[in-house]
Order: sequence, then C-alpha cells, then structure tokens
Amino acid sequence: MLFPRFLDLPALVPGRLLQAPADATAEVRHLLLDSRRVGLPAGAVFFALRGPSHDGHRYLPDLYTQGVRLFVVEESAALPGGLATYAGAGILAVGSPLAALQSLAAAHRAGFAGPVIGITGSNGKTIVKEWLAQLLSPDEDICRSPRSYNSQVGVPLSVWELNPERHTLGIFEAGISEVGEMAHLAKIIQPTEGIFTNLGTAHDAGFASEEQKLHEKLQLFQGQRFQCLFYCADQPQVRAAVAALHLPGFCWTRLPQQPADLRFTTEASPAHATRLHADYLATGLSAAFTLPFADEPSIENALHCLAVLLHRQVEPAEIQRRLLRLHPVAMRLEMKLGRHDSYLLDDTYNNDLAGLALALNALARQSRPGRRTLILSDVLESGLSSPELYARVAALLPAAGVSRLVGIGEEISSQLRVKSYELGVESEKLGVGAAEAEPNASPNQFLTLNSQLLTQFYPTTEAFLAQLNPTDFAHETILIKGARRFGFERIVAALQAQQHGTLLEVNLDALSHNLQHYRRQLRPGTKLMVMVKAFAYGAGSYEVASLLEFQRADYLAVAYADEGVALREAGISLPIMVMNAAPDAFEALRRYRLEPEIYSFEMLDEYLATFSEPADNSLPAPKIHLKLDTGMRRLGFDEADLPALAARLRQHAARLPVASMMTHLAAADDPGHDDFTHEQLAAFRRMTATLEAALGHSVLKHALNSAGILRFPEAQFDMVRLGIGLYGVDASNTADPTALRPVSQLRTTISQIKTLPAGFTVGYGRRGTAAATERRIATLAIGYADGYDRRFGNGTGTVLIHGQPAPLIGSVCMDMCMVDVTAIPAARAGDVALIFGEGLPLPELASRIGTIAYELLTNVSERVKRVFVSE
Ligand SMILES: *Cc1c(COP(=O)(O)O)cnc(C)c1O
Repeated sequence: MLFPRFLDLPALVPGRLLQAPADATAEVRHLLLDSRRVGLPAGAVFFALRGPSHDGHRYLPDLYTQGVRLFVVEESAALPGGLATYAGAGILAVGSPLAALQSLAAAHRAGFAGPVIGITGSNGKTIVKEWLAQLLSPDEDICRSPRSYNSQVGVPLSVWELNPERHTLGIFEAGISEVGEMAHLAKIIQPTEGIFTNLGTAHDAGFASEEQKLHEKLQLFQGQRFQCLFYCADQPQVRAAVAALHLPGFCWTRLPQQPADLRFTTEASPAHATRLHADYLATGLSAAFTLPFADEPSIENALHCLAVLLHRQVEPAEIQRRLLRLHPVAMRLEMKLGRHDSYLLDDTYNNDLAGLALALNALARQSRPGRRTLILSDVLESGLSSPELYARVAALLPAAGVSRLVGIGEEISSQLRVKSYELGVESEKLGVGAAEAEPNASPNQFLTLNSQLLTQFYPTTEAFLAQLNPTDFAHETILIKGARRFGFERIVAALQAQQHGTLLEVNLDALSHNLQHYRRQLRPGTKLMVMVKAFAYGAGSYEVASLLEFQRADYLAVAYADEGVALREAGISLPIMVMNAAPDAFEALRRYRLEPEIYSFEMLDEYLATFSEPADNSLPAPKIHLKLDTGMRRLGFDEADLPALAARLRQHAARLPVASMMTHLAAADDPGHDDFTHEQLAAFRRMTATLEAALGHSVLKHALNSAGILRFPEAQFDMVRLGIGLYGVDASNTADPTALRPVSQLRTTISQIKTLPAGFTVGYGRRGTAAATERRIATLAIGYADGYDRRFGNGTGTVLIHGQPAPLIGSVCMDMCMVDVTAIPAARAGDVALIFGEGLPLPELASRIGTIAYELLTNVSERVKRVFVSE
C-alpha cells in the first residue's frame, strides 16, 4: 500500500512545515488522535485536535517521549516546551488539524477505484453496515468502519484503512449531529452507492426541523460518482426528498399499494423468526426467505441488506443460506465479573486490527490492580502480511499493560510464539510447545514484545478449554477478543461468575455522551467534580469512576469514607472528596488520600485533634473542603459562624489546607424558587469572599449540581458537581430531551407462564384477579429485594416484553412479580422483560409511584448483577 511522505503533506492538506523530520523519507502510516493509544510510533502522525474540553497540543511532549515523531498542529497554537523539545520531529502547522485529517483521508479515498457504500440515517446504521459486510463477505474483500466510527474524526480514521491493493469494497457509516457536518463526511467517503436507513427523532438538537435534518443527511449521496441509493419508500418525507433531489435510487416497500422496485411481505412465524416474500418488479423475480429474528428493527435492517443483495443479483438460495448465518449483532464490549475475583472484558464478536485496538483501549482504561491478560484468536481481515500484522498486534500490547497473552489459532501461534521464543521469554508450554517454533524471522520485528510478557498458545479453542482451570486467572483483568468462528463465548461462559435472571446493564458510551453534554455547558477552565456516591447512583462505582478518570474528570465525590476506600483499592487515583466522613474514619482518609468535607466546628475540632500530633508517618493531613450553608439547612457553616471559622483557619493555617469551599442549592431545578436560589448564590459569594480575605488567598469554589449547571451558567465559579445528569436523567427539565442518553437498563427474565382462568387470583393476598376473562400471566425473576418497588404492584407498573407493555398483576413479592401478557402471545419462559430503560423512562416510572428517578436508580440492590457495555 502506498503511503504519502510526511514531507509531501504541505501540498496535500495544505499547511506550513515548521520543522522537517530528521527522516526525510518518513511516511504517514497511522493516524493518531489520542495520546493514550500510541501503539506503533513508527509512521504514526499525531493530529492535535482541539475540542470544548480538550486540547491535543497538551500531549505533544508525552507523545514525543513515547517515540512519535510526526505531528500536525494548529497554526496559532503554542507548542508546549517550544520547538526545541521536538528534536528530529516533523511538525506541520495547519489552520485546522481536523480539516487536515479530513483532507488527507479524502485524498486517500480518491486513490481507491472500487465501489464504496455509504450508510446514513437515524437508526440502524451500524447494524446494517455489519450485516451487509457479513452478507457480502463471500464475494468481496471489505473494508468497513470499526463499530460505530461514524463521526467527523471516526470517518477519516475508517476510510484511512482502505487498501486499494486488497479491498474490493468499502462500507462506511456517517453520523451527524448538526448542520454542515455531512458535507465534510461526503467528501471523505465519496460513496458510489448508499443506504438511507430511516428518519427518526434521535439527535434532533442540532437541526431546525426534520426536513432540514433529512436534507442534510442526503448530502452524502450527491457526489459526482454516486450511482444508487437504497432506501425504504414507506416514509413519505424520505420518498419526497429523494425525488426532489433526483437521486438515482432503488427503493423497497412493505405497503401493498406503494410503488417501489422491490416489495416485501412479512409474516411472523413462531420461534422468533420471520417469513418473508420478496417481489422484484424489474425482473419479475419472486422469492421467499426466512429471517432468524422477529423484532421490527432487525427486520428493517435486514430488508435494507436484502435490497442490496437482490439488486446485485445474488441467487435467492444463496441469500437464504447467508441470512440464516446472520446473528443479532452484539457489537459491544461487555464487562462482567468473572470467577475467582477476575474481571472480564468480553468482546467475542469480531477480531480485526481496528477492533482489537479499540478493545485494548478499554482494557487500558481499567485501573484494577493485578495482572492484565489478553485471550486472543487469530486476527482476521487486515490486509497485511502475517508477520507485519502480528508485529502490529504485539506493538499494541504494552500500552494496554498486557502481561499475559493466550493466543488461540494456528496463525497467531506460529507468528507470536516465534517472537517469544526468540526473546527467551518463559513460555508455559501448554497446548502447543514453544520448543518446536522456528526462530527464523527477523528479530527487529519483535522489539515490542517485552520480556515481562507471559505467553501461551493453543491451536484451537477446544484445546484451550480442555485444560482451562479458572483459578489460573484469579484476580486478573481479562480481555477476551476473538473472531466469531473461534466461538470465544464458550471461554466467557467458563470464566464468568454465575448469572441470575436480573441484571442492570450500564452503557458506558451513554455515560461518556452525557459527560460531554455537561462539559459543553462549562466555561473554559471550570473544573468538573462528579458525584459517584451511592454506588454511582446505582450504576457501579468502580466502573463509572474508572471511566471518569479516563475522561479526565477533575474530582470525584462520595458520601462516606468506605466508598472512597473501595475506589482507592480498585486503583482509582483521582482526587476524591468525602461528604460525610465520621471522625473514626479520619485516619483512613489520610491513608487513602481522601479529602473530607468539614461542615461544623465539632468536626473541625475532631479533625484538628486527629492530626495535632506530629504525624507518626510522613503522610500529610488530607486537604479539606468547607461546606457553607446558604439555605439548604442540612449541613454546613452559617454566615454567623464565619468570624470564628476565619479565626480558626488563620490560627491553624498550616494544618488546615483548604482545597475548596462549597454550598449546595436547595431548588436549582425549580424556576418557582429562582429568587431563593439567587439569594443562596449571593450569600455564597459574600461568605467565600470573607473567608478568602481571612485566609489571604483564593480557593476553589463550587455550588452547582446537575440542574444548576444547566440553569445557572453564571454561577459555575471554579468547579461544578455533576450528579444525576451523568446517568441520563435531566432533573431540570431544561435540556433538549434527546440531549441525554439513558445509561441504565434494568431487565429480568420470565421464569414461567401460566394461564389463569376467569375469576382466579394471583399472588399474596389474592390481590390480582383474572376478572371476567382468561388471562396469560408471566412470573418475572425480580422482586422488591432486587429494588423493584412494591408500589408498582396491581397495575401501577408496566414492563416491556418484546417491546410491548405488560402491566403488573397482583403484589410485587420479595424475589418475583407477575405481569399480564395476554396481549403478547409471543411471550415465552426465558424471554427478557425490561423493567426500566429505553421505552420506559425513569422519570415517568418514578412519578407513577410518587417518587423521583434518583430513588429508582439507587434502589437497585447490589445483588443485581451489573454488566457494563461499550458500543
Ligand atoms: C448529590 C449531590 C450533588 C449532585 O446532585 P444532582 O442533583 O444529582 O446533580 C451535588 N452536590 C452535593 C453536595 C450532593 O450531595
């Protein structure tokens, strides 16, 4: 594959060379945007992007130390340390590094002569892309976006992987959130064909109207080389827009009267399958297919793919064979508890280089102490020669802290086993013995396999499972990453802790999304403290804290010292404030570097007493946070206390390092109390001014919670304290409802289904009655001991089964409850019932039982398993 020389970039992107690289032949091989993901530094070009809360230029010295020698920076930015810091590096200054990245990718794309399919629309882009790639893979060598890499930076990175010497087809998705973005993506993807999935209401915030959004999206399909748009004719707006723009198209319908190129008639069949007839009007072809699923979104996604395959004239019998191999895409990395205190990152869906790099990033983010292990199958579809491919694989491992590698497959065994042999690395000689390896490959390819890496290789998954002893993996953090055909889900099943029917799924991408939403509200320089009290609002403290650390939050806060201790023991190193530390926990605060909130004179005295002796160890007393009461009347110093407080602070200045001063608003979410809130803020300004004058220096000040961040931007002071908003609930009701994504989904399974004859009763106290007609009743494996509130009983609550509502019948029991599924004939024992999440928003459920979303989130009991997913 041909890569441009760095020295040729000024003409390509364009820009001005600040410094030529010492190696004038240096090529642009990898595009690097994140200093935490360096991998192979040779040929990596770092683009210093700038965002609302992020500035890539800050990481230049770090990258240089890691061996990166090629940089694209912003013309107006100052280089940290000055040019002298970057001896031998090539540095290109451009107006916008993002635009440069995009131009480079566009130039690369232009060098590919084969077809490229661009996918956009509101829902289903990623699944349609993945399925289409699966369905076309017997005919084509496909380059596709990894996961949902569809943004202004994701698309250039995806397209960069296109290799004209190897690939015969590119499939890329494009996602936008505001006007103007699609024009950039269209220039990079330059599709020759396209799929428009559908028009929904997601991401509405950046558009004035549905129509504007639709027209913006359709810009993807208006280039010179564009030949055919696949779309569904059943949305009138889409139909009209495609016609108005004269886009060449191929459309399908499910309506009997709608004119279209292809008509599908579907009928549900038992066992979660769908029967389907296709009538292709141009050829008169008529064929029947079976889809291996029955839910609406999957059917729609499959029909888009089917339209492409029929248009390409793939034989119906062949299409059917491929369709049956189609699996509902689990495109996500799942994190779950393993046996013997291990922790699993389960990513068994696919295994190409880009996907591996993403999964290793997730492993790198884990701060759990203990060994990190990678169980890896042969890596597929890279377009590189085996030695080069596995050199790149090996180069990715150190940055993720991998210290043990289990390689499964013939190819990985032969490639990487040789490396470890050459370096004399201890090999456990299980499965395939290392001694048979031929050490004949060139040694310089193996630089990055350091001697700390323990390796084991097995030819097949069966060989590994045959000798697997889960205690060998005790306390480890294990990334399990394999191509589908290796069936690594069997390894996950063997290593995973027992799962019960009920689980809380926490979407870490949604959490990051919400974090960015609040960050965008902050003035530059305002710090962000995130509240992870109460088990991170029920979501799971360690995982949330670990993500926040990765996302560079400034501070965490917990309610009690033991919550902070648990975070430290799990390896979290961010500063942590403890809101209610008992005096007997003060020593622990010092040991674990936890900073207490001090809210009364009694507490201040205890604190001084604990740390009055010259410390018998060298650890300093922790910094303190002063809580001021401006109207909440819960905890904190009153205005009248200030003279005495100021005197104490002055007197003990050396032993009372004040980290911050704070207050809490009583009604930040309620416009009816805004006068009161303004009084609170005015009091806070007065009180902090008094204290700062007494101290003789200024300290961090903070007042706003989630609702306050959205409603009182002028009162951000130096820091804000984000809570419920991070978890996807807008307590202030001011945000655009689509701006936040729900983070948690609580679900359980149906244990049994019973038919209840007319007049019979259900459950304790016989409070549920089948009334006049026979009912079908499903018993669910969740009760009030799991945190499902008793007040949901007797018709107050609803769950979703197959996307349809099922009302509670009878009382909620300790471990179970019953719902009426008469209207959902497809419901079977073992099916999933959604308790809250997409389609069952928390605020609405909360209002049904007279409480607030906070309570529903924090009520989910710790016995409910948490599974963390990342798309
Ligand atoms: C819990 C808490 C917050 C966060 O409140 P949200 O309404 O969840 O944003 C902020 N400050 C203090 C002192 C808190 O106790």
